[in-house]
Amino acid sequence: MLGLSSDRQSFQFLATVTKRLCRELGFTSFVMSSDLHNQQDFIRSKIRADLEAGRFGGQVHTRFPPEPNGHLHIGHAKSICLNFGIAQEFSGKCNLRLDDTNPAKEHMDYVQSIQEDVRWLGFDWEDRLFFASDYFPQLYAFAVGLIKKGRAYVDSLGAEDMRAFRGTLTEPGRESPYRNRAVADNLDLFARMKDGEFADGAHVLRAKIDMAASNINMRDPALYRIRRVLHYRLGTSWCVYPTYDFAHPLSDSLEGISHSLCTLEFEDHRPLYDWVLRECEVACHSQQIEFARLNVASTVMSKRKLLQLVEERHVAGWDDPRLPTLKGLRRRGYTPSAIRTFCERIGVAKRDSVIEMALLEHAIREDLNQTAQRVMGVLRPLRVIIENYPEGQVEELEAVNNPEDPSQGKRKVPFSRELLIEQDDFREEPPKKFFRLSPGQEVRLRYAYIVRCVGLEKDPSTGQVTVVRCTYDPDSKSGGSQANRKVKGTLHWVSQHHAMPAEVRLYEPLLLGQAVSSSLEEEKDFLDLLNPRSLVTVSDCRVEPCLAHALAGSRFQFERQGYFCLDPDSTQQQLVFNRTVSLRDSWAKIEKS
Ligand code: ATP
Ligand code: MG
Repeated sequence: MLGLSSDRQSFQFLATVTKRLCRELGFTSFVMSSDLHNQQDFIRSKIRADLEAGRFGGQVHTRFPPEPNGHLHIGHAKSICLNFGIAQEFSGKCNLRLDDTNPAKEHMDYVQSIQEDVRWLGFDWEDRLFFASDYFPQLYAFAVGLIKKGRAYVDSLGAEDMRAFRGTLTEPGRESPYRNRAVADNLDLFARMKDGEFADGAHVLRAKIDMAASNINMRDPALYRIRRVLHYRLGTSWCVYPTYDFAHPLSDSLEGISHSLCTLEFEDHRPLYDWVLRECEVACHSQQIEFARLNVASTVMSKRKLLQLVEERHVAGWDDPRLPTLKGLRRRGYTPSAIRTFCERIGVAKRDSVIEMALLEHAIREDLNQTAQRVMGVLRPLRVIIENYPEGQVEELEAVNNPEDPSQGKRKVPFSRELLIEQDDFREEPPKKFFRLSPGQEVRLRYAYIVRCVGLEKDPSTGQVTVVRCTYDPDSKSGGSQANRKVKGTLHWVSQHHAMPAEVRLYEPLLLGQAVSSSLEEEKDFLDLLNPRSLVTVSDCRVEPCLAHALAGSRFQFERQGYFCLDPDSTQQQLVFNRTVSLRDSWAKIEKS
């Protein structure tokens, strides 16, 4: 009856209408439950097909497997939202697994931080927190099983020879002279590797697959290496550590993971993933599916580079609001829901691409527009004296907290004879279409009166304007009888003697240049690309007195200036705000064009 060609189309039409209605009725966070099931990416299609075919007993079980060697970033958020999101959509489960099989850079602090961040993003692993290092005894037993089957051997070629024997993309590899060691010898050597009899690199346990395989990953890949390194959980109990290619499929299988979602660079490892599970004869053969990792323009996402930025003090720490770490984004003022929306919008694909930061900014603007209280803050103050306003008089003017959400109510803003406005909002010699304050001109002060500039004072030595003298029109009060008298500009302001001092931190992209891709990230000298204006501190700002009691982490819209988040560096004497994002929506513009 709607003239639509399919059920799907009519469903979408209804969903759109319902959403619009809900928005108009004020249900801002309404989500159509079937929106989720409507997602039609290749991963969900594959899972649906598996379920229909009766694989995995009809159950979906995913995992998010970070290595505790750094803090999580927005790229991890994509993986978290995907893994936990899919589990939710298919009424399944998602585990949090610390993939801690590589002892060199792992740390308990990261384990704590990762849990905190996943929870902050809004996901729950219930009682399913696992550590791959807890599987070491089982993994070792699987390796022994492979040796006994003749599917693994101890190789004693040095690292250099092993590399030379591996061959290239165009040449097959050569078999190691140790490849045909007797099973008993392999078992003996592997046990002694484990017992710490040998130095690092003396021997390696390798899978016995095919040195002529066209896929280099199948040319007898390493399964275990000797590493006499302290493990952050297990101390010195182990001298041999499994490789990712061995530990990961088996950890998945031990946890009963149905779909093991990983990034594209593991696509060529999938035959090995399957080989390990097949040869180890496991009960659960998990399905690896690869998707493109998230790259964001003008920032850094590799853990190594993030660590370098922190250690060399190019940024203040892991939670520096310039970083795309979840801790940085949170301190910057990002909400979990904006990050989840962003991850949902970028979707999953099989091809690598670079996402503009503007898309993330678009998501946080949408969210904060609905939720953030409006206030007035003057970043670079200029004094205004209202000559015809009685000295000592203070009016408490009423201001709406959020025009998008009447339930946020109203507040009082003090108005007096001496005010502060933005330096940028006054020009002694205004260019054309400058609808702010200039000599002889009128503007409205937000929530207050219309004022006219009648004079100014200057610093005699610098010639800078220090005071703007105005008169106000008492009949023009907002909400009053003459409130509708039109003037072109409306300015934000604060009352000089009531305002709170504040420091404001303004941010620009961490790296210079727009299309910073993963390839540019690979450049050695990414430090040369650091944007010297990535942080601009404005120290002598003034904000409305109502902010005196705000809690760290609270988010506000400073009218005409953007969205700001109160930083934990704030003290009783001075508030500190991070600008989350300006009001200008460059994404909306991009979308339009
Ligand atoms: P490392 O180089 O230390 O392995 P990593 O970025 O792979 O770094 P992990 O801790 O191993 O970090 O990642 C945990 C999970 O998050 C993995 O499944 C990984 O595929 C996923 N992930 C990491 N970075 C991104 C990204 N940029 N986009 C999407 N997923 C990512
Ligand atoms: Mg990894």
